Amino acid sequence: MAPIHKPTTDRYDYVVLGGGSGGSATARRAASYGKKVAIIEATDSPGGTCVNVGCVPKKIMWHAADLKEKMTLQAPGYKFTGIENVQFDWKAFKPQRDAYIKRLNGMYERNWANDGVEYHIGIARFVSKDTVEVNPPNGEKYTLTGDNICVSIGGHPTMPSDDKIPGASLGITSDGFFDLAEQPKRVAVIGAGYIAVELAGVFNGLGTETHLIIRGETVLRTFDPSLQEVITPWMEKTGVKIHRESNVLRVEGEKGGELTVVTDKGEELKVDTVLWAIGRHADTDSINADAIKLNLDEKGDIIVDEYQNTNVAGVTAIGDVQGKYLLTPVAIAAGRRLANRLFGPEKFKKDKLEYHDISSVVFSHPPLGTVGLTEPQAREKYGDENVKIYKSNFRGLYFSMVDEHHKEPSMYKLICVGEEEKVVGIHILGMGSDEAMQGFGVAVKMGARKEDLDNTVAIHPTAAEELVTLR
Ligand code: NDP
Repeated sequence: MAPIHKPTTDRYDYVVLGGGSGGSATARRAASYGKKVAIIEATDSPGGTCVNVGCVPKKIMWHAADLKEKMTLQAPGYKFTGIENVQFDWKAFKPQRDAYIKRLNGMYERNWANDGVEYHIGIARFVSKDTVEVNPPNGEKYTLTGDNICVSIGGHPTMPSDDKIPGASLGITSDGFFDLAEQPKRVAVIGAGYIAVELAGVFNGLGTETHLIIRGETVLRTFDPSLQEVITPWMEKTGVKIHRESNVLRVEGEKGGELTVVTDKGEELKVDTVLWAIGRHADTDSINADAIKLNLDEKGDIIVDEYQNTNVAGVTAIGDVQGKYLLTPVAIAAGRRLANRLFGPEKFKKDKLEYHDISSVVFSHPPLGTVGLTEPQAREKYGDENVKIYKSNFRGLYFSMVDEHHKEPSMYKLICVGEEEKVVGIHILGMGSDEAMQGFGVAVKMGARKEDLDNTVAIHPTAAEELVTLR
C-alpha cells in the first residue's frame, strides 16, 4: 500500500506516531489481531533511526573498518602478501550503502501493506487525546482519530547550542556522519558513549586521523570498569588520539573548510569534521504534547509506566521517545508486547517488557558486549562480601599469528552473587564478543548460576569458551 493521504475510517483502533522499529512492530502486531491501524511517519524513508541513520548503516561501516584492519594489520601475520596498497573508496561505497538502506525502506513499506497497516506521511501533532493531525509535506492536513494512540517518534542526536559553545553548529552529529560523501582526512569526535566510540573506531579503522575528546579519563564510563580499562588504551594504541578530561570551548572556521576545535586544556585541533556524540533526546515539541498535557521529563522524553502508559488515558509511548534503553530491539519488544496487551488474547492482558538484563553490544574495535550489573552496581546492591568476580584477560588464538603490535585484547568477566553464585552480570570484550553475547544474555535472563556455566561443555577453540571455563 503506497502512502495514503486521507483517513479511511472515522475511528481507528490504533494510531501509531512514527514508523521506526518500535512503531512498525507495534502497528504490525496490532494489525495481526485484525485491528484497523494507521502509522503516521514524517518521512518517506520508513524504518526510523536504526535503518536510516543508526544500527544498520553503522554496522556496515563497522564491517568496512573491520575488513580493512583484517587485511592491513592482521593478514600479513598469516603471510598474505600483495595487500600493501589496500584503499577504502568511501565515495563509491556510500551510494552502495544508501541503495541498500533504500531497499530496507521499501521492505518496511511492503510489510505494512501486506499486514494492512496504513502509511500516512506527515508530521503528526496532537489535537486532542484521541485525535492527531497529519501535516503532509505537500498537501492538505487532515486528522486521524483512534481509540489508542502510541507515540514512537524516536529521538535525535543532541548538539550543543552556539550560545553555549560558539561554533558548535559547524559540527555534525551521527545523522551527518551518514551524509558524508567523502572520507574526512581528520576528524574530532566529542563524547564517550556508544556513538562516539563506534564512529571514532570506524574513522580510525578506515584511516582518518581521529581525535576523541572526552570529559573523563575513559570512554564508556557507565560500563563495567574492566571494559573501560581495556578498550580506552586499546583505542589509543590503534591510533585514536584521546584527549582526556577535556571540554570543547569553541569551534572556529567555516562549514566545508578547516575547523579548529579549542579545548579547555589549551589544545587547538585542526580537523575537517567535528562530530558531536554526546547523547540523544526526543523531539516531543513536534507532536504538540502540550495539547494533551503529556507528562515529560526534564529532557523532554515521555514519562511512561511499566506498561508503556503515559499519564493520558489511551496514549502510550515506546522506544527512544520514552528515554530508557535507546535500543532497537527494546523498542520492538516493548511495541509488540504493548499491542499484545491492548489487542491480543486474554493471556496477554498483562504483557509488558521487563527492562532489566538487556544485553547490548558496542561495535568498537574489537567489539564488546554487556548484560546485567556492572561490578560497582553489584557491590552496591549486594554488598562486597556477597559478590564474586571471575575474570580473564587473554589473546584469542587467531592473534597467535598476528604480530605483537596488532594482537587485539580480550577480557571476559562474570559477576556472581550469593552462595549459589547467581550470574548477575557478564561483560566481554574481544573479537566475536558481539556474537557471543546473545547466548550468554539468554543464560543471565534464565537466572544462570556459575555452576550452570561450569557444567556446560566448552566449544574449542573459541573465545566464548572462556566464559564456561573461568576459575
Ligand atoms: P550515550 O548516552 O551512550 O553517551 C553519551 C556520552 O557523551 C555520555 O555518557 C557522556 O560521557 C558524554 N557527554 C555527555 N554530554 C557531554 C558533553 N556536553 N560534552 C562532552 N561529552 C558529553 O549517548 P550516545 O549519543 O553515544 O548514544 C545514544 C544512545 O543510543 C546510547 O545510549 C544507546 O542506547 C544507543 N546506541 C546504541 C548502540 C548500540 O547498541 N550498539 C549504538 C549507538 C547508539 P561522559 O560522562 O563520560 O563524558
